[in-house]
Order: sequence, then C-alpha cells, then structure tokens
Amino acid sequence: MPVDIGWRLAGLSLAWIAGIALHLQQRSLWPMALCAAAAVLGTLLVVVAWCWRRAFIIGVVGVALLAFGAAGWRASLRLADALPEALEGQDLVVTGVITTLPQRSAAGLRFRFEVEAATRQGQGVRVPELLAAGWTKGQHEDAALSEPQSELRAGQRWRFAMRLRQPHGNLNPQGFDYELNLFEQGVRATGYVRDAPSPELLHRAAGYPVERLRQRVRDAIDAGVPDHRAAGVLAALAVGDQGAIEREDWDLYRNTGIAHLVSISGLHITMFAWLAGLLIGKVWRRSARATLWLAAPLAARWGGLVCAAAYAVFSGWGVPSQRTIWMLATVTLLQTLGLRWPWLLVLLLAAVVVTAIDPWALMQAGFWLSFVAVGLLMASSNREATPAAWSEGGRWPRWGIAAWAAVRGDLRTQVIATVGLAPLTLVFFHQLSLVGFAANLIAIPVITLVITPLALLGVALVPLWTLGAWVVQQLNAALGWLAHWPGAVWMAPVAPWWAQLAGLLGAVLLVLPLPWRARALALPLLVALVWPPRNLPAEGEFDLLAMDVGQGTSVLVRTRAHVLVFDAGPQYSRESDAGQRVLLPLLRARGESSVDRLVLSHRDLDHVGGASAVLKAMPVGDVLSSLETGHPILAQATQTTRCSAGQSWVWDGVHFDVLRPEPADYERALKSNAMSCVLRVGSTGASPRSVLLTGDIEREQEAALVRASPAALRSDVLIVPHHGSRTSSTEAFLDAVKPRVAVFQAGYRNRFGHPAPDVVARYVERGIEVHMTPACGAWQWDARDAPAGVCQRDTARRYWHHGLVDGD
Ligand SMILES: [Zn+2]
Repeated sequence: MPVDIGWRLAGLSLAWIAGIALHLQQRSLWPMALCAAAAVLGTLLVVVAWCWRRAFIIGVVGVALLAFGAAGWRASLRLADALPEALEGQDLVVTGVITTLPQRSAAGLRFRFEVEAATRQGQGVRVPELLAAGWTKGQHEDAALSEPQSELRAGQRWRFAMRLRQPHGNLNPQGFDYELNLFEQGVRATGYVRDAPSPELLHRAAGYPVERLRQRVRDAIDAGVPDHRAAGVLAALAVGDQGAIEREDWDLYRNTGIAHLVSISGLHITMFAWLAGLLIGKVWRRSARATLWLAAPLAARWGGLVCAAAYAVFSGWGVPSQRTIWMLATVTLLQTLGLRWPWLLVLLLAAVVVTAIDPWALMQAGFWLSFVAVGLLMASSNREATPAAWSEGGRWPRWGIAAWAAVRGDLRTQVIATVGLAPLTLVFFHQLSLVGFAANLIAIPVITLVITPLALLGVALVPLWTLGAWVVQQLNAALGWLAHWPGAVWMAPVAPWWAQLAGLLGAVLLVLPLPWRARALALPLLVALVWPPRNLPAEGEFDLLAMDVGQGTSVLVRTRAHVLVFDAGPQYSRESDAGQRVLLPLLRARGESSVDRLVLSHRDLDHVGGASAVLKAMPVGDVLSSLETGHPILAQATQTTRCSAGQSWVWDGVHFDVLRPEPADYERALKSNAMSCVLRVGSTGASPRSVLLTGDIEREQEAALVRASPAALRSDVLIVPHHGSRTSSTEAFLDAVKPRVAVFQAGYRNRFGHPAPDVVARYVERGIEVHMTPACGAWQWDARDAPAGVCQRDTARRYWHHGLVDGD
C-alpha cells in the first residue's frame, strides 16, 4: 500500500478513537438531538473530504465528530430506558424471560431477566427492558434452594413479584465501576424476587435456544461430575459460566496469574480459532475439489473464525469474546482481500470496528490488554497483519511438526506476552504474579489443549468430563504448589500517567526485534512504573479515606509511615465481602503491602465482614478491637489488643486516642453497638486537623463521652455514629464534637432506612457539611487539601453514573 494512504487511514482511525474517548469523558450527556446533529455533520464532512481529495484534515474532524455523535446518540437511547424513581422499591408484578444461565451462590440465584410486561396494583407500568435480578433464599444461607427456585432455568418465562431499583454500585478510587459494567450490557435496573405472591413458571421454553442448550450442558456437568470445584471449572470453560468457579479457586488463579484462562478471554477465543483453523486446513487439503474452490489457508482462517464465533456464542457471548471475534473478523477480512497492511494499521482498524459496536469497551482493562497483547505479538514477529499463531493456521503439513511449532510458538508467545503485558498489568491491576510465567507455561497448554476440549467433548461422551475433572485437580495441585513460592505476587502502587506511558514504551522496546543493546534502553523507562514515587502525607499529617462499602463502615487512615484501617466493611454474600472487593484493591493501588493496625469497632457483620480477607491477604501488625476472646477473626491475627478508653499512641507525629469503651464495660453484658471502639485522630502540622471515628455508638455512649470530656471530642470531621440511625447523633454530642464535615457511611436504599432524615436535619441545622456514601462514593480527605474533602462521585463523575444529589 502507498505510504501516504497508510498514514491517512491511521490518522482517520485515531480520529475515530479520539471521538469515542472524548464522548466517554462527559460528566453529563449532550441532548440526543445535538448528538444526532454532530453525527450528521460529521458524516457530511467525511463526504466533503472524500470528494475533495486534499481536505484530509476535514476528514479527520468529520470522523471524530461522527464517532462522538454516534456514541452519544446510542448512549442517550440507553439512558432513556431508565427506571422511574417513583417505581423504585415498589411492589411490581413482572413477566419476562430468563436470558442467561442463572448464577448460583450460597445466597441464591442471580440472572438476567428480559421484561415483557410489568404492572403495579394491576396497572401497566414501563420498566427497563433488561434487569439484573436476584432471588435469594432469605434468612438461612445454608438452606437448600427451595421449590420452585431450584426449577429456574435459562429460556423459561416466569411471572415474579419484584422490587426494582436503579443500578447502583460502590464507587471507590481505582475501584470497579459496576454501574458502567451494567450500562455497557444494557442493564438499566436491578431487582430481587419477592416471596409473595409466589413466583409462577409460565412457559418452559420461551425462546433463547442457545441459552437453553447451555443450561442443559451446565446441568449435565453438575450431574456427571461429583467434585464441585472441578465441575465449576469445566462449566466455566464449556459454557462460560464463570460464576460456577469456587472462590478459593479464583484466588488461586488470580495469585498465579492465570485467571484470564478460565474466563472466556480473548486469548482463549484466539487459541480456539487457531486450533479449529489448523484442523480445517488439514482436512481441506485432502480434497482437490475443495482447494480449487477455496485455497486451504483461506478456508482454515474463515473456518477457524466461524468455529471461534460459535464457541463464543455458546460460552455466553460475553463482552471480551465479542471484542475478540470482531477483532479476528477484521484481521481475517483484510487477509482475504489480500491487503498486506502494516500490523499497526490492522490493529487500529480492528479497534475502530470494536468501538463502533461497543464504545464503552474503551474503558475496560480487557480491551487494552487484548489489543496490546496482539500488537506486541505482531510487533515482535514483525510480520504483516497477524499474530504468529493465527497466521500459521493450516500451513503445517504434518501433526508432528505442528505440535512442535505449537510448543515453540507457545513458549515464544509466552515470553513476549509475559514481558510485554507486565507493565500494562501493573497499570490496571497494580500487581504482577511473579510465578505467573511458570504457571502460564503449564496452564495455557493444559487448559486450552486438554481441559477445554474435554469440557466440550464431554457433552457427547460423559466419561471425558471425569477425565477433565481429574486434569483440573492435578492442575490445581500444581498451581497451589507454585502459589506458595515466596514473593509470588509483586504489588506496585498506581503510578502517575507519565510513568505509565514510559513503562508502556519500555515494554514495546523490550519486545521489538532490536539488538539487545537497544532493548536495554527499556529498563530505565520501566523503573518509575515498578517503583513509582509515592505521595505520602508529611510528618505530623494524615490522609483519610472513608470508603464506599455500601451498608457498613470502613475508613483508611494513613500517616507518613503507617496505615490504620478502622473497620473492614460488610460481608455481601458468602463469596464476597468488602475486604476482598474494596479494601484490598485500594490498599494495593496505594502501594500498601501491610496494615499496621486494624481496628474493629465491634462484632457486627457490617464492620468486621471484610476483616478475614484482609488478614489472609496481607500482614497486619495488630488487631485492636472489642471482640470477645475466642472470636474466629482474632484467631487469624498475629497480635490482638482489646480497645479501651485511655489508650493512645503517636505515629509520625499524629496522635491516636481511644475514647471508648470503658474498661469496666467488658464486665457488663452490653449489646454489641455499645461496645464500639471510638477513636480520635489528630494531626500536629501547621493547621491541625482531626477526625472522630465512632463505630455504632448510641445515645447512652454519646452521653457518656460528653460527660467524660467534651473537649476531647472536638473534631473537624465526624464519621457519623451508627450510619445515621435514629438511636445516635444526639444534639449534645454534635454540639461537643462541633464537626465541620459529617460523613454518613450507609448503603443505597438500605433496609434500615439509614440515615434517618431527622438525624440528617440535625446536622444541616448546625451548618455542618454532610456527605453520604450513596451520593458521594468514597470521601477522600488529604493532608494537602486541608479544609476540603472530595467525593469520588464528584471527581470521577461520568454520564452513566447514578445521578443522586449529595447532601439531601
Ligand atoms: Zn453498623
């Protein structure tokens, strides 16, 4: 291709991606009419540029405008499919079809529900088309799924009594954006099934034949494989049911860096396409007539693509699989057209196709990981257009050579992927599995070439599942052994953008086919990414982060050289808790590899639910709590201290004082809230700041604190007692603390009605600035911005986020 055309195509592709990126930066969306107008104007400009050959820059502006407008138009359609606020929490009767495999957990079932009709008190109402629904078992987690719950299958039509709400997730710095995740999938409301009137199965097979087939295979695996853990892995690989994998296995796969292999990822689909292409090419060559009609390499590529697409659909057609299929389809089409484009151009074009279908993909780590992976492979092999494995599909004459090439190619691919993707993994996940290389070396061939085929072929021949389960057990044993190597996981805090950019450049340099002396230049580029400069508070100062953990409490306090965690948030279900979902990712992102002191105010689950996960994952110097001796959490700690009034310590010039409970309280049979540890933290810098952490104390404890010493309570920031419940925040207490800011940690539409409106009014009347986690997300108060704090929902606001107004 002429060089100038290549440059122009690259420029236009980049303009498209820039238009999408700009669209994704919007805090609130342009009106639909304006988006449509931008798209039309963009199209006109493109046409003008096309006719008037020299106007390249007009074409660039036109393409960017078209991308911006088209994405905006689609987003506004999606936003319009909202649940009216008046219907939130109301009793509705909803009829619809189960569109996905129900995900089983200890708490119950989760599934997608396509709404056909909804009524409220007999009157038809309009609710979003697609719901993320839950059907929980109620109080007893260990109870077996009851009839008719155990009957629930993909493709069935049901009538449920439901309560719905707008999508709402926890929003923390560097945290997972649940609301974006649902928005990308077109889910605009979440809800749960109520017991009365009782759910009714209307139709056993109401469409969705692929889902029904997946369901049958899933049920067959359950019935045919007695080992639960192995059955989960087989189900994940055969029908893409990742929810079937047990939590301990997820932890194992994450810590050994192979989690991408058990979720249906880009690598998986690509390997599948390659394997299928190899087979098809081999068979194709045997028929002279077939090769006359279509050359074997082409047949192999298209056949591989079709098989991979079928596998992607059968395994749930998840977002990463869709991305990979569009990418592979673009590459295959270009090859078929005989276009020998430079690899960078092919990659850019594939990115245009993927973002045209799903603009929100640009926000996902998986998108960047798969594109950079393919890009690195192409760059390092310096061939045209395709990763090594993909382009060679169908070219090898004999199986022996093919197998050897596969092993050799696999090793090489492995080295490149590991080295090249390491910086990107650090950018997105702030951790690197050091044993990942060894683990992948074993797991990639075992999972893609042995376990996945066995999982799929078991559909026809059940004993193959038994064999597959045995291989899974052996693999897990090997991985378990690897995970115990010292220093298996390397953590690095979030690096500034320039260090991230330098690190990525370094990775590209490392894998390019250059002389080794030139590659060595990459090492200095990587330094700042691996050991980024840290923004720590000065001596005598502290930073505070009141995390968004939903209904529960968790606060992170950091001084120059110490980390304190006050409460560890709630347990969400048996599989997940705030420790593993919020606290650990946050600590890692901030470069903390240990916690000096974990304070657990009292034994309630919304305060200690995440403690075990933290204690398991990182060294904790000391647990300071009011937990009774013999509590299982204390058994996990290396050192424990009972909190009682009068204790105090100084870290890096910052004072910590325990104000409650009184030592004598341990002798009385008080309810758990009354035993809450109360901690005051005060800085000694140029402008001293202080915060009061109160757990779930109630009015009697507040009164006792005021009686003991009102002056000791005085604080700039108050983490509001008991989530703003009516039992707490008495007037005398507020007048003694005199906070400037009050932070309410409570869940969105929680069942306790926290915070109580009259309690909030008590704060507002006193001119106290109030923030609530549902509307604020995490609340961050840095030593650098002494008077003000910031809400995560304010700094990171995007148009898809739940639009609650903070402070009311
Ligand atoms: Zn609580």
